[in-house]
Parts: sequence; C-alpha cells; structure tokens
Amino acid sequence: MEAAYRTGAREECGVFGIYAPGRDVARLTFFGLYALQHRGQEGAGIATCDGTATYVQKGMGLVAQVFHEDNLRPLQGHIAIGHTRYSTTGASHLRNVQPYVIETMYGPLGVAHNGNLTNALELRHQLLQRGVGLSSTTDTEVIIQMLAAPPEVTRRLPPHTDERAGPRWVERIRALMQVADGAYSLAILTRDALYAVRDSHGLRPLCIGEIEGGYIVASESCALLTVGARYVREVEPGEIVLINRHGITSLPGIPARQPALCSFEYVYFARPDSLLEDQVVHGVRQQLGQQLAREAPAAADLVIGVPDSAIPAAIGYSRESGLPYTEGLTKNRYIGRTFIQPDDHLRQVGVSLKYNPLTANLDGQRVVLVDDSIVRGNTVGPLIRLLRDGGAREVHVRVSSPPVRHPCFMGVDMATHTELIAHQLDVPAICEHIGADSLAYLSLEGMLDVIRGSASAPERHCTACFSGHYPIEIPAWLFETEREKLMFEAVWGT
Ligand code: 5GP
Ligand code: SF4
Ligand code: MG
Repeated sequence: MEAAYRTGAREECGVFGIYAPGRDVARLTFFGLYALQHRGQEGAGIATCDGTATYVQKGMGLVAQVFHEDNLRPLQGHIAIGHTRYSTTGASHLRNVQPYVIETMYGPLGVAHNGNLTNALELRHQLLQRGVGLSSTTDTEVIIQMLAAPPEVTRRLPPHTDERAGPRWVERIRALMQVADGAYSLAILTRDALYAVRDSHGLRPLCIGEIEGGYIVASESCALLTVGARYVREVEPGEIVLINRHGITSLPGIPARQPALCSFEYVYFARPDSLLEDQVVHGVRQQLGQQLAREAPAAADLVIGVPDSAIPAAIGYSRESGLPYTEGLTKNRYIGRTFIQPDDHLRQVGVSLKYNPLTANLDGQRVVLVDDSIVRGNTVGPLIRLLRDGGAREVHVRVSSPPVRHPCFMGVDMATHTELIAHQLDVPAICEHIGADSLAYLSLEGMLDVIRGSASAPERHCTACFSGHYPIEIPAWLFETEREKLMFEAVWGT
C-alpha cells in the first residue's frame, strides 16, 4: 500500500489536440505526442472523430511502443486528441490511460487532461449520487461525466442556437469550470469541434498553434514545431477556445484569477525548446544557473550538470562563475526518468543504471555538480559517489531551484511531506546525508526574479512546493498525511 501510494498516480501529463480537415490528424497527433513524451511515459492514447464515429487507440508504455502503422491507420477523421500519461505504478491500468471517450446525447465526447482536481472526491460523490456510474479511478473520468451529465442547473439552460458555439458543449464546459477546483488543461473532442480549456489560474501550460488546414492545441510549443505548426499563443487562464469549421473562437469560460503557472515547469518539466509565457525554457534555465552562481559561488575547478535537465543551468553557472563547463556524467538516453522506478531502492539502483562517470574529465578535480532540483533526495547522493569513484576530489552540489518542502496537489508527482528530504532535513543535514563537500540551493526570490524576468514584475507563478503558499485553497484534511494517502488511493486507486 505504501509503495503504491508513494509512486502513486499524481501525474504530469501531455495533451495534444488538432482540428484539420484534409490532414492525417492521427499521424500528426502521434508526432505531437512523441514530442511530449517527456511529460508522461506510462501510457499514451489517441482518439479521432470523422464527424460521425470516433476511433480510439491506447496502450501502456511509450508513444512509439503504443502506436504503429497498423493501429494508426484506422484512426480516421479530421479531429483528434491525444495524451501521454505520467504515473508510475499502482494506477498503471489501461483503463486509466487517456483520452477518455464516451457516447452522449450530443454525440461522442473525448477528453485529454493534464492537472489534478483538488475536489475530485467531492465531484465524484456528486456524480455517484446522481446515479452516474464510474469505471475508473481518475479525475479525468469525473471531468468527462460532469460534461456529459450536467447537474440540473445546466440541464435547464435553453438549447444553444449559435452554431458557432456548438450544441451546448460550451455551457457544459463552463458549468464544469465553475465547480472544478484545481489544475486542468484540457483538450476536448466532440462530433464537430475541438475545445481547449485552461483552469482559472493557468496552473498547467497549454498553447495554440496554426497548421496548414487547421489548428492545434498542445501542452508545450515543442509539439507544435515537431508537426510543422506555427506557435500562435497560450490559452488564457479561464478561457475556452473553440476550433471548428468556422475557425478559431475565444469564448469566456470563467473569470481568470491570480495567474499561477507552475514554476517547476521552468525548473524541470518543460522541454528546453518550449516557450512558456514567451520565454524559451532553455534560456530561463541558463539564467537560473547564472543566478545560482551569483548566490552560491564555489571554490572549484570545473562545472558539470546532471544530464539532461540540469545542463542549461550548469552552462549558466559556468558562464557566471568563469569556471569551465565540462561533461562529467554520461547518461543512458534510453532509460526512463528516475521517478519511473517503483520504489526508493530501485530508484537508487536506477541511478547507476542511468549514469556513468567520465573519469578522464574528473580525475583529481574539484567539481561543482549542478542539478535542477532535489525532491526525495535519492538521485544526488549516488551521483556524488559515482563522481568520487570516477576520481573527483571534491563535489560541491548547487541546485537551480529552492528546497522542495511541500507536496504538490496540482497535478505533479511530488511526494508527501514525509518523502520530501527538505521537509525532513535542513540544508547542512541534507549536505551530510548526500555526502557532498558543500550544498547550496537557489533562493526563492532569485528563482522568481529570473522566471518573472525582473524583480519588480508582479507575482504570477505557483511556488507552493517551495514556499508552501498554494494558489488555490487546499482542503485542510489533504495535508494530514494519513488522510492524504486515503484520498489519493480513493481517487486514483492502486
Ligand atoms: P530526487 O531523487 O531528489 O527525488 O530526484 C531529483 C532528480 O529528479 C533531479 O535530478 C530532477 O532532475 C529529477 N526530477 C525532479 N522532479 C521530477 C519529476 O517530477 N519527475 C521526474 N521523473 N524527475 C524529476
Ligand atoms: Fe508546480 Fe510546485 Fe506549484 Fe505543483 S506545487 S504546481 S510542482 S510549483
Ligand atoms: Mg535530473
């Protein structure tokens, strides 16, 4: 039970959607998901619609493992949505893999979701009370059933007459947005339209692209470029974007609240070539490294980064400090990310499966090891040992984000309080625990100054896992570890 929870199903996923008559939308979605693979490696799925019927294909594993010519070909139509799912074990059931597709009074409905509803349990209960049966344990099924079977208040709304807005789906999406708390970036497929929806804080990213013959929505802009689309803009917090045969229309969803894009997207999640808030992620990471060098210099001979995600920050650290940048670790690129390992023990083994030291570069050197984050603290200790075995004389760890001290309830696998090493130990104790010669983290202010572009720019990011300030109200009982466990097991199952 403990293991199932720890590696549980709070996920960071990738969503993709395309409306493009005349194009092979399933194939384009495949390549879009391929570019979003880093956001989820547990399972992938594509659903298409040709105006009458829907076609769905999903499976466990990497996008390239799930899809091949034979199962892509039957995915006919001009509208498609796709999903890559990030979750580690337990809830690794095919029935939890997205997109979800159901038949409704108004034809087919498909949903791909990135995020986490903090009141999913409550909404689930309401649905069950209304006699709606549920067949999986995800909050995405709650979303799709809320859209399909709206409560009385939306059922009494007059039928929609404006064809541009689609048959009542907009009211239903709006009604969902009014009651759903937490993080959601959604791609929704109906018989004749694609919708993109983002929660009122814009917690998880979602952007729009234009392609010959149509439009695309995707978690990250890297997926747009991969399929030859042009980046247009982000979906705004609280916005509903409708794409159908009339083109693209922005519709009011719910009023935007304090913007709170996840700052961890900049630190770790997003692909370095993606654009977030018109900033290239790679450039931001490099600046985080520069800021780190200003805040926490080290007496050392060279700078290395933990591949791949910390390389830009290591380059930034090197530039600012004047210490040469070199490679000190080689990563096996064909192994999944470390969080994929199902328990702490395997995670530790996982590090040596994943990295080897580049002895020639390390011998007798005092090394600055830059990593983008320390979460559970299982990765960096074994890496330090690896570097010492490879000949490094000293290892000074510098982390390009602040200590992660608080769990995430907004859609990210970010452990519970007790699993977060910086919740348990202070910085000197972590340093000792991981066996570093010195350890320093980037300050919260330093990180925010870089991400916001300037120290005086207004606050517009979620920093809850670092600061403990949650942009949304988190039910008090969610913080109580035992209850927290129960909740996640109840919602996502094992
Ligand atoms: P730790 O062992 O401290 O829990 O893991 C920290 C390492 O995992 C860092 O090298 C960081 O790049 C990476 N990391 C941070 N957050 C995540 C995450 O949510 N998923 C995955 N797969 N890796 C992460
Ligand atoms: Fe992102 Fe951390 Fe906020 Fe979660 S708590 S949304 S990981 S910044
Ligand atoms: Mg890493």
